[in-house]
Amino acid sequence: ASRQGPHLRLAGGGAGIINFCANNYLGLSSHPEVIRAAVEALEKFGAGLSSVRFICGTQSIHKDLEEKIARFHQREDAILYASCFDANAGIFEALLTPEDAVLSDELNHASIIDGIRLCKANKYRYKHMDMQDLEAKLKEAQKHRLRLVATDGAFSMDGDIAPLREICQLAQKYDALVFIDECHATGFLGPNGRGTDELLGVMDKVTIVNSTLGKALGGAAGGYTTGPKPLIDLLRQRSRPYLFSNSLPPAVVGCASKALDLLMESNAIAQSMAAKTQRFRSKMTAAGFTISGKDHPICPVMLGDARLASVMAEDMLNRGIYVIGFSYPVVPKGKARIRVQISAVHSDEDIDRCVEAFTEVGRKHGAL
Ligand code: PLP
Repeated sequence: ASRQGPHLRLAGGGAGIINFCANNYLGLSSHPEVIRAAVEALEKFGAGLSSVRFICGTQSIHKDLEEKIARFHQREDAILYASCFDANAGIFEALLTPEDAVLSDELNHASIIDGIRLCKANKYRYKHMDMQDLEAKLKEAQKHRLRLVATDGAFSMDGDIAPLREICQLAQKYDALVFIDECHATGFLGPNGRGTDELLGVMDKVTIVNSTLGKALGGAAGGYTTGPKPLIDLLRQRSRPYLFSNSLPPAVVGCASKALDLLMESNAIAQSMAAKTQRFRSKMTAAGFTISGKDHPICPVMLGDARLASVMAEDMLNRGIYVIGFSYPVVPKGKARIRVQISAVHSDEDIDRCVEAFTEVGRKHGAL
């Protein structure tokens, strides 16, 4: 019943609930400057365009945001979509022909899987972050005209980070392009929050980045592809979700644009989130829990049993901590978990309260 943020009021009563399940990594979803930018854009540019981009749905703010996204990622150009789901749905079909090949991590996000389904390229699925398997598949794929390796930069269920250095080395060796989905990395991974490619020092080796404006970058909506100019030009001509879907509304563009300004001015917000993530991960590990992944604000508390994850999440809410249990089919059988997500706007006290609640609830249900 309230805005998105670290503290929520739930419909039907509960106030002061501490929220640990949003993708609001930097706390920008309700940032006053982001909201003000949305209101200003709404007033100046209207509620919406009633048009797709290429007819009469492009305003100066759309072009400015695309330019800003490209600058943020240090790429040549960018193209906006209504969502990153759309960006992923559009790219593979536009880029790859039946003569080409796409090699995809088996745990890639559903939208990458669907995007790949829509294209006619030859499909190879390699085992999750398994470089031997990727190399074997790249060898097999040498017979095709062009190879594209597609991976999430950070995987949202496990909080683990793709080995991009190794992926880029293999891509170089076997003449492949690299595509990353940075939805759970843009804005906060890497020294300046540019993402997984910055964190791992391969910004110049990853060709295509898709990401969302609906998580760390203000949390409103929207997605994009950024990369070489000829690729972006091609997408403007051929990408179906771009060609056949309405333009992003001005208020949404205003939010994302302000969020990027804030991040380009200073990396203090991203740094503060990293410190809080570290606090949560180390305290939970000391309490005896197993937290999957490393250094990522997605902190999956591994429990194994689906029922345990669900009753523990319920009991956490009774203690004022909002977290969600994930079980099959969202994650593999026997790997149920409660996914905790840390935000820059959590206080140290919020984090400590979460750890205390987990410890109590974990003891009560025999998880510790
Ligand atoms: N890719 C990944 C890895 C995601 O986690 C998500 C969102 O859930 C998407 C793509 C889709 O992003 P959007 O919400 O902008 O459609």
